[in-house]
Amino acid sequence: MKLLLGTILTVALLVIGILIIKTYKETHKLARIVRKVLLVGLIVVLFNIISLYTHYAKVCLLAYCGYFIASAWMLYYLLQFSIEYIGHRFEDHINKTGMILLLIADSVSVAINYFRPYQFTLNPVTVMNESYYELDATIWFIVHYGIILMLVTFCLISLFYRSYTAPVFYRRKYLTIAVIMVILVILNVFTITSAIDVSVIGYVIEGIGIYYCVFVYTPQKLLSKTLYHVSQDMSVGVFVMDIEGNILYINKYAKPLLSEENPLVNKKDITLETWCRNQYLNRLENFTEEHTFYCKDTEIVLKIQLQRMVDVKSHLQGGYFVIQDRTEEINKLKKERYQAHHDPLTDLYNKAYFCEKARSYINRHLEEKLLMICTDIKDFKMINDFLGPKSGDTVLINFANMIKEQIPQALIYGRLGNDIFAILMKKEDFDESFFIREEQDALLQGTEKTVSFPIISYTGVYEITEHALPIFVMCDRARMAMSTIKGDYHKRIAYYDDNLRASILHEQELISNLSTAIAEEQLQMYLQPQMDADGNLLGSEALIRWIHPEKGPIMPGDFIPVFEKNGLISDVDRYIWEKACTLLKKWKDEGREDLYISVNISPRDFYFLNIFQIFTELIEKYDISPKNIKLEITETAIVMDFNRQMDLITRLRQTGFVVEMDDFGSGYSSLNMLKDIHVDILKIDMAFLKKANDEERSRKILKMVIALSKQLGMPVITEGIENAEQVQFLTEMGCEMFQGYYFAKPMDVATFEAQYLK
Ligand code: C2E
Ligand code: MG
Ligand code: MG
Repeated sequence: MKLLLGTILTVALLVIGILIIKTYKETHKLARIVRKVLLVGLIVVLFNIISLYTHYAKVCLLAYCGYFIASAWMLYYLLQFSIEYIGHRFEDHINKTGMILLLIADSVSVAINYFRPYQFTLNPVTVMNESYYELDATIWFIVHYGIILMLVTFCLISLFYRSYTAPVFYRRKYLTIAVIMVILVILNVFTITSAIDVSVIGYVIEGIGIYYCVFVYTPQKLLSKTLYHVSQDMSVGVFVMDIEGNILYINKYAKPLLSEENPLVNKKDITLETWCRNQYLNRLENFTEEHTFYCKDTEIVLKIQLQRMVDVKSHLQGGYFVIQDRTEEINKLKKERYQAHHDPLTDLYNKAYFCEKARSYINRHLEEKLLMICTDIKDFKMINDFLGPKSGDTVLINFANMIKEQIPQALIYGRLGNDIFAILMKKEDFDESFFIREEQDALLQGTEKTVSFPIISYTGVYEITEHALPIFVMCDRARMAMSTIKGDYHKRIAYYDDNLRASILHEQELISNLSTAIAEEQLQMYLQPQMDADGNLLGSEALIRWIHPEKGPIMPGDFIPVFEKNGLISDVDRYIWEKACTLLKKWKDEGREDLYISVNISPRDFYFLNIFQIFTELIEKYDISPKNIKLEITETAIVMDFNRQMDLITRLRQTGFVVEMDDFGSGYSSLNMLKDIHVDILKIDMAFLKKANDEERSRKILKMVIALSKQLGMPVITEGIENAEQVQFLTEMGCEMFQGYYFAKPMDVATFEAQYLK
């Protein structure tokens, strides 16, 4: 018997030891209390084993004292556990300090028994030929026993109370511990004073029991019910099949998918349910795949996952399918992909995707002769402004549709941005007529507006000779070609070639050299005298020269158009105007206030500069008279924004500046304009006569213009005079001022001064 009990207790000791170690994995408060219960329980068992096996009365007495003290503390921790376990704070129910003091007092009173046994003594007895010590308790033992019973009672009250109030799934948990505790009490009452005390087993079971309830026990019913609800409410379809492929369980989501009224079928007309069953019974592995099914004509993309459950010998036990409807997600993805690749307005490829597609095509067809074509609508900004942005958009859509419908040979096309479209095409398929057809009506379709100016497109073509170039560079080349047409009404299409490239490079070089040129005074003001018929000096025109340190003098015709294109002309002009005023000031100081200088104003200056302010500031700065400055304005500048420019001219004239219309007759001048444009002087270029086929007829017109102009109070100056005959007939016609090589070529200031201002 002793051996049996000893073995049981040793095993219990080991088990408790292992459980203690396991509790270290958990960190919550309850785990710490469980650990304390088990630790004290370990001591209880240890003392019990000692008391069981010792032959010495004193040792046995000591073990009993230890056993009683430890069991009281174990019950204390059990109480703490019971209260915390049911979800309350131990301190809220029990005065912790009071309880500890009480237990210390009890421990001391039990310990005293070792020296002076007054609560109990031990008597050696023999049971079944084995010697034991039997407890002989006195009336004082009731003190210790009372405390024990009080602790047990508290524990039971809290556990029973909790099992009464707890949801049904948890009741078992609390009841288990309470019942074990009742067993412990019974064992204790009945065996504590007998030779073989098995009540310690109650402590062991209680320790193991709370460990089980805290760390191991899960309410199965709750679990299955919860799982049922979770799977019912899931936003994926779930159904479970038995070994024969019968559906055992199906959640809410899966029901319509497997509905017989509106079955989902695949392309082979097999329903989803049959398909799943076939896979389940015939395929041996789990899978997750996407398949397309149809409900009537609606396409539904399903992500189907099969999970087969097998036993240890890999025999199929059952399985379940998880089905997810991915249609919306996939449509959204498709849409997003489409949007990422297409221009929202015209529905053509956007720039990035056009480049990607073109790159891929070019890489796959290196042997083909291909063209990169860029096309845009002339003055689209103006159209937008005139028609309004909504109609502007319609024009762009129409343009895109024209490319789509009328150039079927285009391999890849897209909108690069604004009004610029790009097309990749085989050279052999290219036909200029695609790009120079009449477009006005087609482009304006749907805008309910008519415009008085022509709407046409410009096209630039680059034949792809360097396949490795980035696509945007190819487009740039086509656009470079396109940019050469701007302003030319007759030309609609231009081709990129090496000359164009060279000239563009040249332009770029000019642009990048400009600031150095200004800083190093490479830009110089030349003067060309203006004379009366007798060759007396009246004044001069300031004409710019770029004296390049390496290239020598560059004529304005070579760089002014470049700077006019990008607006840099304004810097150049301001520079020359400043030079002219400096010179006028110098002349004034030298007493030559009678001379004037004509300066040129580029049409672009009207956009970039406040001309009125600049000139008024200049005359103030240099203290010169406005009548010494003539401002040469071209017709183009005035026509671009007639009212504004006329207003400016009026203000300049009122301030005293002399305004001259340069190059009259070279543009689209009409006699009508003469009456509307109020300037001080009209400047006619002799090139006007040279250009004409019928010189006689032109002379008649010239004569009339001069007469008319004089009548309107505008004297005429003629430039480009190359011989005496011209001076003579112009004088006869009434012209009084002349400028031209016949009198003198433009010259630098020093030469001019030396020649005319001695
Ligand atoms: P423009 O203002 O009409 O200047 C007259 C041009 O005719 C000058 O050419 C002049 O050298 C040239 N010329 C003068 N007499 C004769 C002649 O008898 N026969 C021939 N064939 N040509 C003659 P240039 O200096 O080459 O200037 C060309 C144009 O460049 C100017 O035409 C003007 O529009 C522009 N330009 C020159 N300097 C400036 C400037 O500082 N600013 C601006 N914005 N434009 C300028
Ligand atoms: Mg001029
Ligand atoms: Mg001129």
